[in-house]
Amino acid sequence: MLEGGTINMLDLSGEQVSEWLRSFDTVLSDGDGTIWQDDTAIEGAAAVLNALQNQFGKRVYLITNNGLKTRRELFERAQRLGFQVPNDQHIISPTATIVDHLKQLPDFDSTKHKVFVVGNAAIGRELQANGIDSYGAGEEEPLPMGEKWQDFALREFTKPEAADNVGAVVVGWDEHFSYCKMARASHILCRNGSSAFLVTNRDAVHKYPALCIPGTAAFVAGIEACAGREALEMGKPSPVVLEPLIQSGALRPERTLMIGDCPKIDIAFARNCGMQSLLVGTGSYQLDILQQNGSLPQPDLYLPRLGDLLQFL
Ligand SMILES: [Mg+2]
Repeated sequence: MLEGGTINMLDLSGEQVSEWLRSFDTVLSDGDGTIWQDDTAIEGAAAVLNALQNQFGKRVYLITNNGLKTRRELFERAQRLGFQVPNDQHIISPTATIVDHLKQLPDFDSTKHKVFVVGNAAIGRELQANGIDSYGAGEEEPLPMGEKWQDFALREFTKPEAADNVGAVVVGWDEHFSYCKMARASHILCRNGSSAFLVTNRDAVHKYPALCIPGTAAFVAGIEACAGREALEMGKPSPVVLEPLIQSGALRPERTLMIGDCPKIDIAFARNCGMQSLLVGTGSYQLDILQQNGSLPQPDLYLPRLGDLLQFL
């Protein structure tokens, strides 16, 4: 492993890059901003990841905080865009991590417990594909016009089933977030102490050139304030995400490279898990921004684009 502050890989010799390539067996790569932007691949990214896997024998996983698609749907996108990951188990996404986490919880029994989802339909689809019943995902739950909040609370929360058989509350990005959903989640978490409380990620805001869109952190903060409990994070930078791979022996953090475009998410994740990190400049952070902003988590290595690695391979 290379020592010192962030190294611009374009300054390295071919020999130094060859030595670096021998320092890891596993590669985790972020999705948006690193290898693709929505449904468009970033030039050269697939060629690099495919070469690392097929030519250099690295195990490659794609890891995203995107909770709007199931693991299977993300795998299909990866295939469509030319990424040759062997199967959907090489996709690490919040929806998949939620399923993995629930399955190993001693208090959670999928034959008895349902999951209440404040979030989008993909979470419900992923749970269903794995034999877990849920409700709320992708649905609207407004306070009906003319109804008072007291009417809603009395109608919904005096029934024992409103909380008793709910094994988990899962929060994700939810365009239909409402007072009623917040109240329902709070009721379950306050009344049923054994119910798990999970969140897909804590991305605060999604920035686009002309827009700022509230992220999942905003939704979960409101529910946490009511429930007096903290949700467990199922996305980067939480090290919980890697537990199944570490426990199965499939991944050793000290022999793993994390590639991403966001210091606070991807580079923080690498640090939290003890992995080496490579930041690419195809998202919002380039080397000059990093250097001017010392409080950001600093990566070990930097490349303007992942595709720039091709010249060394
Ligand atoms: Mg990203």
